[in-house]
Amino acid sequence: MLNFERPSCLALMIGVLGLLNPATVDGQDALERLTEGNLKRTREFIERNRAMRTEVPQRGPLKTARANLHVHSELSHDSRGKIEAIVAAAKRAKSQVLMFTEHPSKEKDFYLDGHQGIIDEVLCIPGAEMKGMLVYPTLSLAPFAAAEPKEIASIVRSRGGHVFLSHLEERMDWQFAGITGTEIYNTHADFKKQMGLVQAMKNPLWFVRIASLLEKYPQEVYSALQSYPGDYLRRYDQLCQIHPHTGVAANDAHENVGIQIRMGDTDSSIVVTDALGDQIVKLPRLGIEKLLSIPPNAATGDVLLKVQLDPYENSLRHAGTFLLVETLTQPAVWDALDRGRSFVAFDWIADAQGFSLAAVQQVETQSKRHEIGSQLSLTDGPIRLEGLSPLPATWKLFRNGETVETWTGSDCRFDIRQPGVYRVELWLDGWEDPQIWILTSPIYIE
Ligand SMILES: [Zn+2]
Repeated sequence: MLNFERPSCLALMIGVLGLLNPATVDGQDALERLTEGNLKRTREFIERNRAMRTEVPQRGPLKTARANLHVHSELSHDSRGKIEAIVAAAKRAKSQVLMFTEHPSKEKDFYLDGHQGIIDEVLCIPGAEMKGMLVYPTLSLAPFAAAEPKEIASIVRSRGGHVFLSHLEERMDWQFAGITGTEIYNTHADFKKQMGLVQAMKNPLWFVRIASLLEKYPQEVYSALQSYPGDYLRRYDQLCQIHPHTGVAANDAHENVGIQIRMGDTDSSIVVTDALGDQIVKLPRLGIEKLLSIPPNAATGDVLLKVQLDPYENSLRHAGTFLLVETLTQPAVWDALDRGRSFVAFDWIADAQGFSLAAVQQVETQSKRHEIGSQLSLTDGPIRLEGLSPLPATWKLFRNGETVETWTGSDCRFDIRQPGVYRVELWLDGWEDPQIWILTSPIYIE
């Protein structure tokens, strides 16, 4: 959640004037990328990728299902998202699974009252963001509200649920035996690194200034915050060497960043609220009327301007966790998470559907395919990692956290000669710098 600084009426008027004459946005980091020229180049990059993309046939018996973990709805205090709207946004972002992570409250039981089952073709799974973890239990956790994180993790895991470490940047020293996995990317953590953007967004005027760019480039503006999650991956590589961890992307989707300008409750006022509708400032209508073209029949509460930086559709599309499943059911999703059959993709750059990576092992005369997450031994026969991508890319092979080999193209082959924990990153060229696109969970070779 953002905390707005209360602006003066005059400052806000000046900001509204900016609507007619958009000011250039300057500053550091992601803020620097939010210029018309940059956003246009980003859009061209996305369009080139779309044009170059080829459909890749499914390899092996499993399908890929796109999932979004770490999603908040109106069951959380800091979101107003209705389930129908979130599901519709997920479909537009090509997601088939929504794994909710509500902030627990006394009023609602996130598990018993949570979104569950297939809703309009999207599989919904209830869960919570609690005690530094993403938690997907198989029972209500209300009786365990006071339990320590480790205890919660063990209660959930011992009853067949799933637990992921969340917001790793705050808990780099945590290591729980038997946990399902960890976030290997978190949008909110990425956002916090963009100090210039964080600072700019404390002022509601910034949203007014960005409104026209946001309307033209909604995904590009949202995804400008993305950077390579090097700190998360370093910790992930360490954790995977202790025991297998399934890597997932955390969208931290709330749809709660933005402002609204509404008709006030008297003839002469305008109210500026945050995206959740809480008032930031009330100011006289005089002077703003012409700029915002207030309709003559506008009534109290009518929205005159809405600037939403993080609509669900854009936050869900930004990054996805792809799971290898037999069917679109909760048991199949559970199985994929248990076995580490996952990869993370920044789909705002290009749709990653069709990407595959597997270890192919020659055992006597037969070659056997082992999906991401598998554990196999070199003593059973030679092993080659084989991958296929819908776009040509630079493939980086990591062994125990170190880059050991690279490959360029749409399909890759890495011969494995040493035991270790192997994962792959795909990087795309064609922008200013190579851009991280896909991160896989590891394949474990003994
Ligand atoms: Zn969250």
